[in-house]
Amino acid sequence: MNTAFLFDLDGTLVDSVYNHVRAWHLALREEGIELSVWRIHRKIGMSGGLFTHQLLREVGREIDKETIDRLRKRHAEKFVELSEDVAPLPGAVKLLKELTRLELPWAIATSGRMETARSNLESVGVDPDKAVVVTRDQVKYAKPDPDLFVEAARRLGTTTTGSYVIGDSIWDMIAAARCGALGIGLLSGGYGRDELERSGAIRVYDDPADLLVHLDEIAPRTRD
Ligand SMILES: [Mg+2]
Repeated sequence: MNTAFLFDLDGTLVDSVYNHVRAWHLALREEGIELSVWRIHRKIGMSGGLFTHQLLREVGREIDKETIDRLRKRHAEKFVELSEDVAPLPGAVKLLKELTRLELPWAIATSGRMETARSNLESVGVDPDKAVVVTRDQVKYAKPDPDLFVEAARRLGTTTTGSYVIGDSIWDMIAAARCGALGIGLLSGGYGRDELERSGAIRVYDDPADLLVHLDEIAPRTRD
């Protein structure tokens, strides 16, 4: 089986984490929920539903399904408004090109839905009709469940066992461990090295550019 490179999107290939944080912050505020920005940041990268439940537990508030759906919709709208100028992280475009050149299979698996992922994919030059891209809409459970990565590997014709999951959040690393993949952490989403390592990252790099420089540490030189 080929070793696949399964990428998270926000904070891993695209510099969009703080836009998401701000969009959630504004959406929550509209519901009268005041939460410090850092508390929101801690949960970015997990599924929107889980995310909302965990945040609201922290503020000790019960919430119904309609409110969660409304929050999710408002977050998506605010994110699109805030994200006209979202840029790829340094080295992201080059890294994907290099993997393609080396014939190493890669895919993107994001907890975001296509409505928020589309502009991010565009910024990194990925056409979801041509590359393998799995979004929240396409699996039952999002991170920290491993379904997104399992589905991405399946579409590449391989499995997650021994493949790499590259992500910026502890939710990516937990999902990696749960599907037998090796977690590679990037600092570009704002999580610290220690947290990523504690949740299973075997290597941690600054950003995609730093990973590209050290690609020979993890990439098999030839395929068999
Ligand atoms: Mg992320």
